[in-house]
Amino acid sequence: MALDEIAAACGTPCYVYSARGILNRYQAYDEAFGRTPHLVCYAVKANSNLSLLRLLAHAGAGFDIVSGGELFRVLQAGGTPSKIVFSGVGKTSDEIEYALNCRIHSFNCESEPELALINELALKRGLRARVALRVNPDVDAATHPYISTGLRDNKFGVDIADAERVYEYAQSLPGLAPESVSCHIGSQLLDAAPLMEAVDRMVALAGRLQKRGLPIRNLDLGGGLGIAYQPGQSTPLIAAFIEEMKQRVSELGLTIMIEPGRSLVGECGVLLSRVIHRKKNSVKEFVVLDAAMNDLLRPALYQAHHEILPVTQSSRPLMTADIVGPVCETGDFLAKGRTVPELEAGELVAVMSAGAYGFVMSSNYNSRPRVAEVLVEDNRWRIVRQREKFEDLVRGE
Ligand SMILES: *Cc1c(COP(=O)(O)O)cnc(C)c1O
Repeated sequence: MALDEIAAACGTPCYVYSARGILNRYQAYDEAFGRTPHLVCYAVKANSNLSLLRLLAHAGAGFDIVSGGELFRVLQAGGTPSKIVFSGVGKTSDEIEYALNCRIHSFNCESEPELALINELALKRGLRARVALRVNPDVDAATHPYISTGLRDNKFGVDIADAERVYEYAQSLPGLAPESVSCHIGSQLLDAAPLMEAVDRMVALAGRLQKRGLPIRNLDLGGGLGIAYQPGQSTPLIAAFIEEMKQRVSELGLTIMIEPGRSLVGECGVLLSRVIHRKKNSVKEFVVLDAAMNDLLRPALYQAHHEILPVTQSSRPLMTADIVGPVCETGDFLAKGRTVPELEAGELVAVMSAGAYGFVMSSNYNSRPRVAEVLVEDNRWRIVRQREKFEDLVRGE
């Protein structure tokens, strides 16, 4: 599809996603498991647009949710409740009740008080809630500290050293069925080694729990596989990664569950934006775009790198500039000191690999309406979220 046609028809900035790309990646996961019992639960927080969820639901995916709002979205999109796992360190009573009423697959629990709360709410309904403990395997995922979650000193999960005791506690509660173990050590992992280290520790734990008589049936290994944000960056291949995981898990007769987010959608989206101005001061040059940190927060939040390419390719000299948006913050940049082909006012650029943690993190800061989202399917495209209007900004005030 010609991105300039999409931009002309629906304006900029806008996110554009590829349905084929997303389905190909989902199928790569699904097919790599082959006949091994498995469930691929897409991590909804990476991109929760209903049309993307519908696409994945039709392909047979399960979903990993972290809020009642995400549960609502998945149900709206036709997701199957029995394939939904509910993660997160602070599920409220309302959210737990909603999920129990929907008969989701299981809760990934992060503390004893949470187990007690789910037990109480399940018993009130005469239910037994399937739960996993999210275990912290204490491996260093070697990623950005904001998205590293598997070390002992962060808020997520239960220490692996405490896990057996907490499982015994869960087993003692009549409203709970502790049938799974889970972990998620971090995001944007470019090296499979820490993930495999975590797999080994989790498999050993599942074995110990089974020996104690706990009915462990599922091993949920979380998400986290990284994608290439820079040209030439090498990332683990989905098929090889799953193959290695399968080999390490064999024997125990467990269903393997995984929760990929970024690796399904990240590379399948771009943020289209137009250059408003070029501006120079005594030390620096700036390219001012119509997209800003409120549209794509990752550069400002994590110093993340996104390639920025002119949509019309031509041979031209290079320039080095800060690529910034109109928001009134010095932290509002999409790239700093970046060397790109000379960009001209009025031309279109594509911010690459923006399909994950892009639109979902966007806000109305500076009273900027949230942008449109477009889905390309085969040789057609359609708007899957309307650009907000000024009226949308004040609704509810
Ligand atoms: C964020 C998250 C994921 C998805 O991580 P990706 O890096 O996007 O694959 C999976 N599971 C849990 C519990 C998460 O919090």
